[in-house]
Amino acid sequence: MSELKHIEQLNLVDLLKEIAGKYGVNAVFSTSLSWEDQIITHHIFSLNLPIRIFTLDTGRLFPETYSLLNSTRERYHKEIEVYFPNHVNLQEMLTQKGPISFYETIENRKECCFLRKVEPLNRALEGVDCWITGLRSEHSENRKELPISEWDEQRKLYKVNPLSNWTLTEVKKEIEKYNIPYNVLHDKGFVSIGCQPCTRAIKEGEDFRAGRWWWESNDKKECGLHN
Ligand code: SF4
Repeated sequence: MSELKHIEQLNLVDLLKEIAGKYGVNAVFSTSLSWEDQIITHHIFSLNLPIRIFTLDTGRLFPETYSLLNSTRERYHKEIEVYFPNHVNLQEMLTQKGPISFYETIENRKECCFLRKVEPLNRALEGVDCWITGLRSEHSENRKELPISEWDEQRKLYKVNPLSNWTLTEVKKEIEKYNIPYNVLHDKGFVSIGCQPCTRAIKEGEDFRAGRWWWESNDKKECGLHN
């Protein structure tokens, strides 16, 4: 049984305090600045917890996302660590395949996601004991069974998804309750927001992740960050 099993009964604030007490700076939270992530950021910063917060700047994010990164820094007067792709590998891919190779094949798309997201994530998680995410089980078929805490054997760390059971309505209520800054694209039909060339708004009734890599079939729609 996971040594974190007991945290599954806790509310979000108590869960974050428990993790901060147990792991200190060896606990990290990865934010993509989604509204789920903004909730967790809000509580970590407001409670002055030692949990480090980082984000992956793929170099292809929406201007609105960069703007939110900036306003979040200003609102809490705290730093969010930024991890950027390795420029040598990226230059090589861009030189050989051009700037939009991800539309051509799934292999190219995965290569781009690896260089811009997975490799920087691997660096960000080096030496970490506990990784907190803002994933929710409602996000996609692949995440349906998402546990609140799990041992990640591949990365040798505990992965904690405190919002796993939250509904979108609960997420919105929390944002409103604490007046948390969020991405203005959420109000324009963008539910799940990633890189600009690979994200579109969704229509009513469409799956949460329908706007991500919309040219690919559903079972391929993960970027390798969360296996
Ligand atoms: S989401 Fe698109 S642009 Fe971003 S890393 Fe993946 S393939 Fe590249």
